[in-house]
Amino acid sequence: MDVDAASFARAVLDWYRRYGRHDLPWQGQNAYRVWLSEIMLQQTQVATVIPYYRAFVKRFPTLKTLAEASVDEVLQQWQGLGYYARARNLHKAARLIRDRHRGRFPRKFEQVAALPGVGRSTAGAILSFAAGQRWPILDGNVKRVLARCFRVAGWYGRSDTMKQLWYLAESITPEQNAAEFNQGMMDIGSMLCVKSSPKCEACPLKKICLSYHHHSQAQYPQKKPGKARPHRRTLMLLHRCDYRILLWRRPPSGIWGGLWSLPEVDNEAAIPLWQQSFLQTARAPQKVQPDVIRHQFTHYSLDISLAIIELDSLPSRIADTDNYAWVDPADLASRGLPTPVRKLLSSLARAPGTDPG
Ligand code: SF4
Repeated sequence: MDVDAASFARAVLDWYRRYGRHDLPWQGQNAYRVWLSEIMLQQTQVATVIPYYRAFVKRFPTLKTLAEASVDEVLQQWQGLGYYARARNLHKAARLIRDRHRGRFPRKFEQVAALPGVGRSTAGAILSFAAGQRWPILDGNVKRVLARCFRVAGWYGRSDTMKQLWYLAESITPEQNAAEFNQGMMDIGSMLCVKSSPKCEACPLKKICLSYHHHSQAQYPQKKPGKARPHRRTLMLLHRCDYRILLWRRPPSGIWGGLWSLPEVDNEAAIPLWQQSFLQTARAPQKVQPDVIRHQFTHYSLDISLAIIELDSLPSRIADTDNYAWVDPADLASRGLPTPVRKLLSSLARAPGTDPG
């Protein structure tokens, strides 16, 4: 595919200088902060990221402070942003930089791309923004712009589609001003070439864009051949005793990895066995509230039901003291909890007659 790379880059740079975003809090910052912003932006929009970014750098102003923190502190600061693997990888990478790169953020592409949670596009973004190097990027916004401009066939899960998109990204990235160009492409993707009803009349690429000329914007990027998102169900157990509730720390990998949550079973019939195994006691729930929350994950939706169980006295033993804790609801703010679980617990605290404290 022939690309007039110079015209493409000129159109993006001219537009960016006049209309693009120049006041994002991580712009012009050091590599640590640019890296942090890029990780936060991987699955989250700019407007959502900004307050989290500000709070995070206040708590962990340098790479050293992040490396020295515990993973629990990092997860707690991250809560609400979702996709917690990003926070765990961030922490792991900070320690790796401290130990293998003497605490200095690496400047070589291969070293940056090898950090946990950093792939080819994120490495390109970090090094172009923080070090002025020429590297292409291919985040969700840029992919959409390129797929439409060049009518790229296939969906992003196909390797030939991604190969073509990388070829295009590589071809159009200019030798000079790669940082401005990359920011301009991201801004065009998020401000003009939006998912539905792109604002083509205001777009600097409309003269070049094949989808615009063929009125086929809605057909690109092409979608994954359809399959409905499956539903899953779980029953969360709210054990309450003596003004405290029982929390469970989830395994480090998988959904909400490493966060504190409520213990879970598949259904009501499984409650006695769970209680015998973990609390050496058995007590039927006072109340079961079906489907109190539906939470959407990328690949499935989860219907959460809740069983409320009042205990007269704290069980004398708990099977796994590292990952279970009786917690005063007033202390929940200091623990990393998944947002739906936090909401669930605070709604119970507000509901008359169900005060968990
Ligand atoms: S002309 Fe329209 S479809 Fe093409 S890149 Fe611009 S906004 Fe997207």
